[in-house]
Amino acid sequence: MTDIQTVGVIGAGTMGNGIAHVFARSGYRVLLCEVERRFLDRGLETIRRNLGREAEKGRITVNDVDDALARIEGTLDRTDLAEAGFIVEAATEKFEVKKALFQELDKIARPEVILASNTSSISITKLAAVTGRPERVIGMHFFNPVPVMKLVEVIRGLQTSQETYETVATLAEKLGKTAVEVNDAPGFVSNRVLMPLLNEAMYAVMEGVATPDAVDEVFRLGMAHPMGPLTLADFIGLDVCLDIMRVLHEGLGDPKYRPCPLLVRMVDAGWLGRKSGRGFYSY
Ligand code: NAD
Repeated sequence: MTDIQTVGVIGAGTMGNGIAHVFARSGYRVLLCEVERRFLDRGLETIRRNLGREAEKGRITVNDVDDALARIEGTLDRTDLAEAGFIVEAATEKFEVKKALFQELDKIARPEVILASNTSSISITKLAAVTGRPERVIGMHFFNPVPVMKLVEVIRGLQTSQETYETVATLAEKLGKTAVEVNDAPGFVSNRVLMPLLNEAMYAVMEGVATPDAVDEVFRLGMAHPMGPLTLADFIGLDVCLDIMRVLHEGLGDPKYRPCPLLVRMVDAGWLGRKSGRGFYSY
């Protein structure tokens, strides 16, 4: 296994800033790459705020915060990633965006460098195929909020090598996470199982079986879920839920993955959950 010291992170949004945060906290130098200065600044500010909060709670010291921040370098120039020993991409969830990025990163990164994607739904096998190193392309699927959630789904594309898998699983453990091995398939395991649950909860509301509050209470009190399915859907974003249901529906071709019509209508109305102020609940 190559000795990774510098990690390239593409995208400083919700996931990218969290990924940069955990790598920096684990002692890696991080090159955090964005397309615009304002997105980079916003990501860096979020990392500063989240580290500060950890220090306030006494989980880390003020020195730890300074050390972690000092390890993160922002850049708008992707060629800077030539220095990285590992690259993880957390850019916008659009195949064309990721395809262009993987083609470019394949030219920029040293040949032995592994290119990972944090995608929630795009095929790792397809991303790998646009590069000249498909055996060194893999999914590294973190969960939101990254500094808190323990799981990393490590997704093997059809051509991903055993060495690549082992390197990334070990890397996840070094970040204090637990790696779970999954093969490339629509929705992987997490979204393939979770999203139909949320979708079914929406059907229950649509059909008047119960109110959103009642459905959520069933799961909180009856199944010990920390958050009911409709609260969770609002948190994830109803547009994101709909996109993932469509990936499952198209990719697996089974009508059981049909997006709930109520979900489609709410997204059409711009009710996207917490981020838009209205979803199954008002914020
Ligand atoms: P986001 O919109 O918050 O952030 C994406 C960032 O990528 C934006 O800031 C954008 O400017 C940047 N970007 C786009 N193209 C770029 C490029 N060519 N180079 C550098 N930066 C670029 O999105 P997010 O929620 O952080 O999601 C990122 C990825 O993580 C997606 O693939 C998504 O499916 C996945 N994911 C998201 C979640 C979640 O809960 N939000 C969970 C797991 C995985």
